[in-house]
Amino acid sequence: HDYSKDDIRQMAEDENVQFLRLMFTDLFGTIKNVEVPISQLEKLLDNKLMFDGSSIDGFVRIEESDMYLYPDLTTWMIFPWSSERGKIARVICEVYTPDGKPFAGDPRNNLIRVLSDMREAGFTDFNIGPEPEFFLFKMDEDGKPTTTLNDSGSYFDMAPMDLGENCRREIVLTLEEMGFDVEAAHHEVAPGQHEIDFKYADALTAADNIQTFKLVVKTVARKFGLYATFMPKPLAGINGSGMHLNMSLFTKDGNAFFDEKGDLQLSETAYHFLGGLLEHARSFTAICNPTVNSYKRLVPGYEAPVYVAWSGSNRSPLIRVPNSRGLSTRLEVRSVDPSANPYLAIAAVLEAGLDGLKKKLVPEESVDRNIYRMDAEERTENHITNLPDTLHNALKDLSADEVMKKAMGPHLFPSFIEAKNLEYDAYRTQVSKWERDQYLEMY
Ligand code: ADP
Ligand code: MG
Ligand code: MG
Ligand code: MG
Ligand code: MG
Repeated sequence: HDYSKDDIRQMAEDENVQFLRLMFTDLFGTIKNVEVPISQLEKLLDNKLMFDGSSIDGFVRIEESDMYLYPDLTTWMIFPWSSERGKIARVICEVYTPDGKPFAGDPRNNLIRVLSDMREAGFTDFNIGPEPEFFLFKMDEDGKPTTTLNDSGSYFDMAPMDLGENCRREIVLTLEEMGFDVEAAHHEVAPGQHEIDFKYADALTAADNIQTFKLVVKTVARKFGLYATFMPKPLAGINGSGMHLNMSLFTKDGNAFFDEKGDLQLSETAYHFLGGLLEHARSFTAICNPTVNSYKRLVPGYEAPVYVAWSGSNRSPLIRVPNSRGLSTRLEVRSVDPSANPYLAIAAVLEAGLDGLKKKLVPEESVDRNIYRMDAEERTENHITNLPDTLHNALKDLSADEVMKKAMGPHLFPSFIEAKNLEYDAYRTQVSKWERDQYLEMY
């Protein structure tokens, strides 16, 4: 919505808003909130609201500790679950430095920057339709999440209504109240796993929506005594949670990926963009799959992609071209998981695609057979490489890619790599139950 300052003042008054929740996202994709009373509204509208940036992970540099929050008024929203003592409104903010510049360590600012490069390349919008999946776990008496699933249902299960179904329905209704256009909501393949799809939007709105979505899912789940997690692979032996990203570039004339006369009715733009995605797939993996746990999902046998390939007919590869054409012509990147920072992940795939356009990259032939039934030799013949198998290897690929450096900028790129290498080191020095089960008695 294109709200003016006066609209905001009016809505705050009409709805008895008592608190303002100012949201932004840190390097790790975690939503950060600064909550202030309504008395601070004028200060906020004047871009004069300050906070201590040194307390935020990945923002670092003590000298820069005074940061300003500039509200993006289009994101103003009053939470439907606010209490009678007064409502809470939230607004997503951009982080600015004291000298009035967008802070380069803010992932949202970074996406705004990459989107302006896209406009220079002649496009108006990068549209993103995410498909986030999550698990609902029971909570214990202390309100701590357990690993006990709440149901044993599966895909499109119409089994007797349970808590999970009711909870999902409440999530959908809440999202709709908040202005989301929910296209589908269904049980996933794994027990306790759900997917909710909402209508695609321009990249910045889509990333904001993903963050708001996570907040809503977690908040509503709690009301049902359930814990919602977006951890990519909470349980071994069943599917993990992904967040497929459907994407398309638009110009003022419409969907630039569609060409009635093209191969598969895809335009040259679509093919070059696809070429760029494939070219940089290994290096954007660390951004789209940024946790140690992400790589437990990217294994054969659980519907998650493992190989770098694309297809117009097969559902298993890294990149799929869904059947719809015209306005819905799109590429679907299936590796992304919901632990990814959506601002960084979207910037990464966009920069990869734009590089494909700039270099006129041409993708390898599509692979319409089941890659999982090919042996290593067949894969080599078909020029099919693997996605990185660990966060460590993914970070090596990321570090070596200049285009990904451009996607994150000189502030975020090294901070991300350093933080994630530390995360991997912390993991590497742990000894797991699997190791003791395997080796304690063997040696
Ligand atoms: P799947 O068949 O992979 O399960 P879904 O139907 O669950 O796909 O989700 C499709 C997503 O793609 C939705 O979010 C939808 O809004 C989005 N979408 C449709 N058209 C476009 C487009 N032109 N660009 C980007 N996303 C799109
Ligand atoms: Mg889906
Ligand atoms: Mg579908
Ligand atoms: Mg799914
Ligand atoms: Mg999908």
